[in-house]
Amino acid sequence: MAIIKTEALVLRTIPFQDTSCIVKLFTRAQGKISVIAKGARRLKSSLRGYLEPLNYIETIYYYKATRDIQTLTKVDLLQALFTNTTDVESSIFGLASLELIDRVVHDHQHDAEVFDSVVQTLKTMDRHSDNCRVLFIHFIISVADILGYRFETEYCSRCKNRLSSAIYNSGTGQLVCQSCGSYLSNPYKLTESDLRFLNNLQQSSPETVINPVTPPASPDRTIYYMLLAYLAYHIDYPLNLKSLSILSELSP
Ligand SMILES: [Zn+2]
Repeated sequence: MAIIKTEALVLRTIPFQDTSCIVKLFTRAQGKISVIAKGARRLKSSLRGYLEPLNYIETIYYYKATRDIQTLTKVDLLQALFTNTTDVESSIFGLASLELIDRVVHDHQHDAEVFDSVVQTLKTMDRHSDNCRVLFIHFIISVADILGYRFETEYCSRCKNRLSSAIYNSGTGQLVCQSCGSYLSNPYKLTESDLRFLNNLQQSSPETVINPVTPPASPDRTIYYMLLAYLAYHIDYPLNLKSLSILSELSP
């Protein structure tokens, strides 16, 4: 048995027995793990209140490889995210980012690069709630890139000509030019400025995305649905994020 101390994000918490809870964490040291927080729902518990999604915490837990659920012993709050904003939409994009991580990262798959990327994204969303939509799109592109599925925006995947506008081919998970994609029904279409916008995001960090010198466009939500479809195609796993359906209900 080892004692692990690591930064973590809370993905979700479910009550367990009378006073405990089981918490799914995304940790920097070990990726996704489940821990039991014994007595965490007692009023006087030192763990109480910290084990909520959108909290960035430091944890200490006992780890045993043969166990599915590890034992949490200590939590320190590093930052409670989205507590100062009254903008519901920004918290929803924060939750959608966590949900995306929960779907694309396998249990015990250790990836500090993904962890740092999501922490940086959430912190930037917290500071710049007006740009959450752009930051979320940037996050999907970054995750796809880290997982080895870089989103190609420059050339048609079929004829290899440079793209001036594009169509997303959901059958192959790639972009094609207008003439190569003319037979596709109900395609996602990307204009020249959409392509330029996505291309810029690929070369940006969350901080430079919101750089006031190059104000981001206000992209339509079909762009992030297309990117989620793209990522889902390549990881071969559906990505219907519940948080985003809440958003559609709020502003159809
Ligand atoms: Zn083409």
